[in-house]
Amino acid sequence: MRIEYDIKLGFKDVMIRPKRSTLKSRAQVTLEREFKFLHSPLIWSGIPVMAANMDTVGTFNMALALADKKLCTTIHKHYTVEEWGKFAVSIPESYYNYIAVSTGIGKADSDKLKAIFKIIPALQMICIDVANGYSEYFVNFVRRTREQYPEKVIIAGNVVTGEMVEELLLSGADIVKVGIGPGSVCTTRVKTGVGYPQLSAIIECSDAAHGLGGQIISDGGCASPGDIAKAFGAGADFVMLGGMLAGHNESGGEIVERNGQSFRKFYGMSSSTAMTKHIGSVAEYRASEGKTVEVPYKGEVESTIQDILGGLRSTCTYVGAARLKELTKRTTFIRVNEQENQIYSE
Ligand code: 5GP
Repeated sequence: MRIEYDIKLGFKDVMIRPKRSTLKSRAQVTLEREFKFLHSPLIWSGIPVMAANMDTVGTFNMALALADKKLCTTIHKHYTVEEWGKFAVSIPESYYNYIAVSTGIGKADSDKLKAIFKIIPALQMICIDVANGYSEYFVNFVRRTREQYPEKVIIAGNVVTGEMVEELLLSGADIVKVGIGPGSVCTTRVKTGVGYPQLSAIIECSDAAHGLGGQIISDGGCASPGDIAKAFGAGADFVMLGGMLAGHNESGGEIVERNGQSFRKFYGMSSSTAMTKHIGSVAEYRASEGKTVEVPYKGEVESTIQDILGGLRSTCTYVGAARLKELTKRTTFIRVNEQENQIYSE
């Protein structure tokens, strides 16, 4: 047994220090970025905020709404090939770069991936997603997928340490998804004791990825636009959101009425709700590692996106970053023992 004594940080442990700037208005800030990838020849441009591949978040409707604003959606893996077929009809070409197809690592998953690309060959991104990205089997799956799809952008995760980011990039991933345990409906840290505070995970993993010419997605733990700004400030190339995009018209999840108020169900992909829905039950050998909650109905996702992007532009203005790309370079984090004033919170 070993102990690492340097303290790892989460979003709540820091704030971003303001800096003198020549920017006059947040309207001058551009959030669009352009990325070249380690393996794929694609050049991607857009706003690097993504909807998570959860069946309550990464839906076809979410993809259409976000692509309109040049944001990405990783579509959850539970749509059937027939449903993809119907969706294919409704997407114009300009949306192709904003839609990632998610897959697990079984034989049935790779067969389905093939079938989806047969229907829409122009889709560019694959998200290979497992809760624990440390297994050799997963790395081999990433390698085989790269061989099969040399041109596609491959996202692989989740991991939280630099050496595994490097291994995945060298095995064929273009982008590594980072986060174990920070998610709003995740109970991994409680059930297993395993995890890594997200801000430190981003700092360490982005350093490893950028050294090789790869990118990372910070996945999970953002509860406010300020957290998203901190994730970018720490070095994330993309930020993935679950809970912040749940509960909208475009999200999935049963609608529940209570005392005249509307809620939408939101649950982790390893929750017993999700496992019962998609597999029939929670397998005997495993525990559920996700929660089921009800979030207040929030209407169209467009206003939430506007709030997020407005917050990000404002962060950039506070530190003098004319482009989101400059935010990391212009970020100085300060360690804090307080966040917002709670006096009027419920
Ligand atoms: P959020 O933005 O809600 O904080 O985090 C979203 C992320 O939580 C997802 O992208 C995914 O990585 C993670 N997640 C989703 N469902 C589960 C689950 O059931 N268990 C765990 N451990 N993580 C989950």
